[in-house]
Amino acid sequence: MRAISLHRDVIVVTSAILRVNCVIVRGSAAELREPSAEGEPGAEGVAVPPTDGESFVIDSPVLPDELDALPSLLEQARFPAPSGLLVTHGDWDHLLGRLAFPGVSLGAGESTAERLKASPGEAQRDLRAFDEGLMIERDHPLALGSVQALPVPGRCAVGDRELELYAASGHTADGMAVLIPWALVLVAGDYLSPIELPTLSDGGDLQAYLATLERLRALVAHAEHVVPGHGPVLGGEEALAILEEDAGYLQALAEDGAGAALPDGRRGAAQRQLHRDNVAALSPSRSHS
Ligand SMILES: [Zn+2]
Repeated sequence: MRAISLHRDVIVVTSAILRVNCVIVRGSAAELREPSAEGEPGAEGVAVPPTDGESFVIDSPVLPDELDALPSLLEQARFPAPSGLLVTHGDWDHLLGRLAFPGVSLGAGESTAERLKASPGEAQRDLRAFDEGLMIERDHPLALGSVQALPVPGRCAVGDRELELYAASGHTADGMAVLIPWALVLVAGDYLSPIELPTLSDGGDLQAYLATLERLRALVAHAEHVVPGHGPVLGGEEALAILEEDAGYLQALAEDGAGAALPDGRRGAAQRQLHRDNVAALSPSRSHS
């Protein structure tokens, strides 16, 4: 697991498996914020007491040791213990925050809250299948409990700050992207990954995916850092380049199906398999249109 600081209020933790990103964000109390204060969380000289403000954990790492290490990582960074968990979408690999912070409330966009309600046990089944394949053992089963549905588009307060929530469907039928405006960080969910082709999972939709990319374009243009669901954190320019490649690939997929060209750097065996899955996912909807 890798942890990097993107801003004094934002830490990204990347799982060693699937390279899933988890973002920890702190909304400081206004009277304690120093406009000139810069530096790493926990760095000397940052005039912020350890329990200042409020923090949220967005998505999750995957491995048990990584989840176990999250509370002490927050402590070392002098972030307050999280008062909320957020998920960008309902795929199991983003839902594991409750294993690290069992008592903390879980918030999701309305579309994700509905999906989780409509398919109880789906995340647990997918997690179990993944764990069995890799012989991973966990001390506790995943219990999502009640999920707080957040209006999207909308805002969500963290301390004295506000996160902005934007609809992001197409990869799946649900999803949201989270903008951390004061830090200029965009948490994209499973979009804009430099290591993975756009994928149309169960409930995914090509036109919705393209619409999400258009929505993200304006946000990416103002972001200093873009955190995809999987893979390395991108600068704004890099993310824009990935966005163009992804839109180009999806348009080609809509027109040429299997014959669509894959973007440079994403043509390996795993990506070619994802491409075949996309073609298969597309076929039924094509025959209806
Ligand atoms: Zn994912």
